[in-house]
Parts: sequence; C-alpha cells; structure tokens
Amino acid sequence: MKWDKRKILEIDRKHIWHPFTQMKDYEDRDPPVIVEAQGVKFRTIEGRELYDTISSWWTNVHGHLHPLLNEAIREQLTRLDHVNFSGFTHPYAVEVIERLRRFLPPELSRFFFSDNGSTAVEVALKMAFQFWQNRGFTRRTRFVCLENGYHGDTIGAVSVGGVDLFFKLYKPLTFKTFRAPAPYCYRCPENLDRNFTLEASKPSCNFRCLEELEKIFKEYHEEICAVIVEPRLLAAGGMIVYPAEYLRGLIELARRYEVLTIFDEVATGFGRTGTMFAMEQAGVVPDILCLAKGLTGGVLPMALTVTTERIFQAFYADYLEGKTFYHGHSFTANPICCSVAIANLKLFEDEKPLEKGREVRNYFHRRLVELFSDRPYVGDIRYLGYVGAVELVADRKTKKPFPPEKRVGFRIYMTSLERGLVLRPLGDVIYWFLPLCVTKEEVEEILTQSLAVIEEVVTDLSAG
Ligand code: PMP
Repeated sequence: MKWDKRKILEIDRKHIWHPFTQMKDYEDRDPPVIVEAQGVKFRTIEGRELYDTISSWWTNVHGHLHPLLNEAIREQLTRLDHVNFSGFTHPYAVEVIERLRRFLPPELSRFFFSDNGSTAVEVALKMAFQFWQNRGFTRRTRFVCLENGYHGDTIGAVSVGGVDLFFKLYKPLTFKTFRAPAPYCYRCPENLDRNFTLEASKPSCNFRCLEELEKIFKEYHEEICAVIVEPRLLAAGGMIVYPAEYLRGLIELARRYEVLTIFDEVATGFGRTGTMFAMEQAGVVPDILCLAKGLTGGVLPMALTVTTERIFQAFYADYLEGKTFYHGHSFTANPICCSVAIANLKLFEDEKPLEKGREVRNYFHRRLVELFSDRPYVGDIRYLGYVGAVELVADRKTKKPFPPEKRVGFRIYMTSLERGLVLRPLGDVIYWFLPLCVTKEEVEEILTQSLAVIEEVVTDLSAG
C-alpha cells in the first residue's frame, strides 16, 4: 500500500480495534502512524522522531532493526519457515535451548515452547495443576497470586491477575485464587513515612506482606498447587519495585508448605532489570519460569515455559496412564522466531550489553532522583535496571491520588506524543522501560523531555 496518512487513519478508524484502548478516545484524535524505527526511536509518517521509551510494550531489547537480528531472520528464510513441533524437531529450537541454558540455573532443564507471554503463563498454570493431579494429589487445585500482579489477558492468566482495573469485569469467567498483598512499599500501611529515594534491595520492614502470604499457605496448603509472582518488579501493576528479600522469603515459605513456585519473567527477563533474569538478584530458582517478550530481542513472538526434571518426570509415563500434557499451539517453536532468539542470545554472550550498560543505568537512576524528587506531585520514584517510574499524586503528604476523572496519566501520554516521546501511563504512574542499547545522552534527553511534559500537564491541571 502506498503510504497515505489520511487513508491509513480512515481505514484504521473504520475497521481496526486496538488492544487495551478505549476506541472512543480516538474519535477525534489521531494515533501516530509509525512507519520506521531505528535504535531507540520511531519515525512517523510525517517524518517526526519519537523516542520509544517503553521498548514497544517492553519487548525490544537491543534497539530497533539491530543488524545482527535482521540478518538472522534473513538467513533463516532461506532454510525453513515452519514445521509443526509435535513429533518433529529442528536444530533451531535446539540451539535456542543450548544457548539459553548457559544463562539459567542447571535445575531449570526442561523447555516448553509457545508464542506469547500469556500462553507461557497458561502453560505454567496447567503444568503446575497437572503435576499434582498426575501424582494423585487431586485436592491441590488452587493458585496463590499477588495484588497488583499481572500475567496476561487470557482467562487463566486473568484468574491469577491482581489488577482490578483490567480484570474485575471478567471475574465470573475465572477460577478462584488466593490473593496475597503486594510488596508495594510506597503504599504499605506499615511504612507510612518511607522516603522514595528508595534503596529497594534493603529491607526496611518486617515484611508484613510475607506474613499474610504465610497465613494463606498455613491454612490452605493442601489445596494449593502453586504461587505465581513477577520477580522484583510488579510491572503492569504500576512498576512496583520490591526488595529481593521478599522473593527469598516467598520461596522459603513455598518450600516449607510444598507449594510450587512460578516466576513470571515475561517482562523482567533478558536484562531489563540489570541482570539477565531478575530472580538472580535474590539468588533463588523457581519450579517453573515463564519467558517471552525479550526472548527474540523483542522482534518476533515466542515464549518458553521452563521447568525442572522433577516436574517433567510427573508427566513421563506410558501413554495409557493419561499423564500426557495436552497443550500446544500452531506456531510452537517457529524456526524464524528461533533464529532471532539465537541471535539475541548470541548478542548477550558476545557483546555483554549488561556489563557495558552499568554506567548508563546508574546515570538513569541518579538523574531520575535529581529531576523528580522535589516535585510536589511526585509521590514515589522507583527504579531497577532499565526500568524507572514516578507515581504522581495530588497530595504528597497524604499520598492521595489525583481524581480518576482528571485522567492525568492519559493526558501526559497524549502530550508526550506531541513532544517526541512515548510516556504510556499505568494509571497515574509514568514509567520508562528502556532498551539495553540506550546511551547517557538519550537518557538525559528522554528524562528532561519527560519532566517538561509532566510539569506542563500537571500545571495545566492545577490552573484548570
Ligand atoms: N506476564 C507479564 C509479567 C507481562 O508483563 C505480560 C505482558 N505485559 C504478560 C505476562 C503477557 O504477555 P503477552 O502480552 O505477550 O501475552
């Protein structure tokens, strides 16, 4: 199609239904039409540049159009496009696993492919459930999840989701879970005057949230098959960074009560939190790990659910015993996706972006605090690796949020698009989810532009 902005917008408005979007918001507003990308920036159809400050929904790892990732796809297109993965295998899937194992603890040795974060979670849930069923513990059918936790939008993932804004409506469709309080330090009742120049890795409390989790385990462990959690960062729940000690405590409790652990590293995996996987920061290993988004460098959809030999063995039996894992998707382990995942992992190994990026990450954190800490509308500042967030409040002392009808986050988003960057809000939390290739100069430009946008919208709001 020849690019014609007016035509594109006309057809889009008439026929396309966008995800997580109230389409009426676009009745008299145009979404940016993105036609090209390079590194940390998009180019719109009018030739305007726009910083991709959220790495295209937390997927993009090394910047857009990385030559090595592109080359890998091109080469794969001369060999094999697709083959079903039930009863066949191919060297491309095997190489992904061989390379990935170098980054994972050896206990995580069995790999199940699928094609997005939500399905990686669905697989994990069914696996955990069936693990107990196959071994005769038929009462263990329930899951524990966290408030503010998010694991995807399919019905199983929604059932273990803890963000009411997204999930409340669908409750009649979901299965029942136990929900434990989130380690949300800023809004923790135990921690009222905690300062936001947070050193997230230092425990500053007695972890009342873990006590609540233990209460659930203690009373119901014989009915619980697993607990699911996002390590170190509750991403969609508001970019809530929490201490590594909490994760260690959670694992310890789960082991004590023989509950399986599922770590969802769909968002945090592949370097985003400053280490290859966020769980490394707590030195713990789950029974099941979910990976997606950054697995292919954020270029093509692919996911993995990784587990231990112990879990795998519970399914390994004569066919007629009925222990088979009945799950699979058409595009399981697609060779083109595998080829770019291989190139992504090779990049991590050869170019060591996490070691090279240490100074940039420190700069990012320091500038976040310097620029935002004395703004009256900033209640909390959170950061970890390439992720940063500010939680905006109407009253810093009482932590009272802005009235929802003011749509502060949404207005900031709309203004940011006009000013050359993407500040996608989570409620009134404004965040940055940067790719590993970002430079200090880019960080500086992104943060100063962000501050100007936020300041403009909040000032306008107070005036009005
Ligand atoms: N888990 C986590 C932690 C996520 O952040 C997301 C997506 N934001 C998902 C699962 C779902 O992934 P997908 O959008 O690929 O289905």
